[in-house]
Amino acid sequence: MKEVILVKLGEMVLKGQNKNAFETILIKNIRRRLQSLGEFKVEAAQSTIYITPMDDFCDIDEIEEKVGKIFGIVAYTRACIAEKELGKIQEAAAEYLENELLTAKTFKVESKRSDKKFAYSSPEISREVGGYLLSKFHHLKVDVHNPDVTVRVEVREKGAYIHPNPKEGAGGIPVGTGGKAAILISGGIDSPVAAYMLARRGVQLTAIHFASPPYTSERAHDKVVRLLDKVHDYAGRMKMYTVEFTKIQEQIRDNCPEELATVLMRRFMMKVAQRVAEMEECKALITGESLGQVASQTLHAIACTDAVVTMPVFRPLIGTDKAEIVKLARKIGTFDISIEPFEDCCTVFTPRHPRTKPTVHVLEAAERKLDVEGLINECLENLNYIWIE
Ligand code: ATP
Ligand code: MG
Repeated sequence: MKEVILVKLGEMVLKGQNKNAFETILIKNIRRRLQSLGEFKVEAAQSTIYITPMDDFCDIDEIEEKVGKIFGIVAYTRACIAEKELGKIQEAAAEYLENELLTAKTFKVESKRSDKKFAYSSPEISREVGGYLLSKFHHLKVDVHNPDVTVRVEVREKGAYIHPNPKEGAGGIPVGTGGKAAILISGGIDSPVAAYMLARRGVQLTAIHFASPPYTSERAHDKVVRLLDKVHDYAGRMKMYTVEFTKIQEQIRDNCPEELATVLMRRFMMKVAQRVAEMEECKALITGESLGQVASQTLHAIACTDAVVTMPVFRPLIGTDKAEIVKLARKIGTFDISIEPFEDCCTVFTPRHPRTKPTVHVLEAAERKLDVEGLINECLENLNYIWIE
């Protein structure tokens, strides 16, 4: 039986004249995301996108799994295409939805006829298909208000599409419609979730990771790459920059008050990140900070961190609890990687008693002991990047 995937567009259908641009980007994203699974025809008609596999060997489960992670889609479903004859439609519905109908107690049929040449009206199609299914599945009852399964039949130009209840899509708006931003990514639980949340709002990501070899290892770096691989399932391809941060951390350790070390380090991170972001034409920075989570994430500390950059800094997790973040991390598949025990540059030189209410004045005084610009430039000269794709 010939199968296709039907995709319902999300919020973007509301966007007036931007709609076409959004739809074009979504179609491009779908094509790119499915590339590794074979050849597809992807086309839009009446707020629905049709994904038709061109090869017979395509695994429809794999396609569904990928489609379920593409932003801009509110719902999607597999469907079979039957010939436009009532008898064929009845048989196809019984065969194609056998598993769903066997496990359901109640059902209804909903039909739509956009091909007005088809001899039966929508109510007639529903009645005829419903009657046939009742004769085949004796345990079933019709429930028009709250059925376990809704059998949907759409008679269109090219055939009759038959499908079950649609699945919930990833929501959001298509990646690439909302500009670019740079995510500061650590190996922790929070920053991959923050990346996911901004990608969900249409933002294309560039990742920036700070490493401090030899204090941090190659395996810690590899962990971040694997985290971004998971984020990539939702966010699409992205560049990952690695900034070598060792010298800055050593200089802070050797020249500045210990209790200020973390916030000083974070101010450096933000400055370097902004410079990399500008190179990449990103319009904002993103972090995984959550208010009060640790000493460097108090209101005072965040104000001091923000003071060194001019770009907007998005902190999508700022008002969330750890438990909520963990739930999302599990959903997007990053949690198990995040909890692997590798060192992060943030944890290497952690002060014993970090200052929770630093002031810009005190931090600037500490920074005067350092060649701030020189250190930042050195980082930028030694940048490395790879593509996550
Ligand atoms: P967790 O809190 O689960 O350990 P985290 O990613 O939030 O993970 P924090 O130490 O809380 O780590 O750091 C706060 C934020 O600072 C991170 O969300 C991330 O955006 C940024 N950050 C921390 N360490 C790094 C790093 N090594 N490279 C890039 N960004 C980092
Ligand atoms: Mg954190």
